[in-house]
Amino acid sequence: MILDGKLAAQSIRADLKNKVDELRIAGKRIPHLAAVLVGEDGASMTYVSSKVKSCEEIGFLSSLYHFETTVSEEELLRTIEKLNSDQGVDGILVQLPLPDHISTEKVINLVKPSKDVDGFHPVNVGRMVQGLPGFVPATPYGIMLLLEHYNIETKGKHAVVIGRSNIVGRPASILLSRNTNPGNCTVTLCHSHTQNLAEICLQADIIIAALGKPGFLKADMVKEGCIVIDVGITRVKDNSKKSGYRLAGDVDFENVAPKASFITPVPGGIGPMTIAGLLMNTYNACHDCHIS
Ligand code: NAD
Repeated sequence: MILDGKLAAQSIRADLKNKVDELRIAGKRIPHLAAVLVGEDGASMTYVSSKVKSCEEIGFLSSLYHFETTVSEEELLRTIEKLNSDQGVDGILVQLPLPDHISTEKVINLVKPSKDVDGFHPVNVGRMVQGLPGFVPATPYGIMLLLEHYNIETKGKHAVVIGRSNIVGRPASILLSRNTNPGNCTVTLCHSHTQNLAEICLQADIIIAALGKPGFLKADMVKEGCIVIDVGITRVKDNSKKSGYRLAGDVDFENVAPKASFITPVPGGIGPMTIAGLLMNTYNACHDCHIS
């Protein structure tokens, strides 16, 4: 069965839209997301504009701070400070990657944890590890929301996560191992130095593929009935497309799908769920969260 991230995300967005309508009627504050983008990278520009557009569609306020690649680190840090102290802004998103002359660590660490809707600040990472309320990075959060949406039982299952980045693989492995639902998995976190990856994958009840290598996970690496979550998004040259490229996932979908009990497509799987995760975080930043 296909796990339709587009559909699941639509239902989360509709729910949030209703909540925003209620806030407006009650004269309460509307969530406001500030997005910071540096440079003209095509993928980054597409991601940010779809995040901003999604905010607008459900009635959130949004602002885009778009800088040229040459922007100084000082100026970027000043902008973050300004957004931190702006009481009208609930969530701050800094689109990564940043140019080499800017320290990503400095920028991330400056974002106020209570506005860190990307969930990258060490305070929020620590809270996630300890199972405390806080912001969880949007992509792994989106994975959890998708599993929840389809009522997929994860308890006691062996989850294999391929990729250990701070934005996807590692937080996904932590969330799946927590004593929550979804969660309670036995987790194996694999990376570029993992030996016998195919054998490990064959033992998995759930595979999260997040390594950024198109078609990497083949049918002979997957056991019958496995739940396969494909996080990968790579632009692959394709002259038959108007844009000149197509989006490819990390899973050899055509051959893996017949073996999987559930599988996410690319596009239309974790991509839209990531945006749903970000919107949920922004709503919570405005209303429910108690992080200082
Ligand atoms: P990354 O490059 O930061 O990390 C890749 C990870 O994969 C590393 O930890 C590396 O050790 C591991 N890896 C690489 N080759 C491997 C191999 N042969 N075997 C095992 N592990 C290997 O990537 P990332 O930022 O985590 O993103 C991963 C993919 O997910 C990319 O395609 C990215 O575009 C996509 N992504 C999608 C979304 C979304 O919204 N759907 C969000 C974020 C990232």
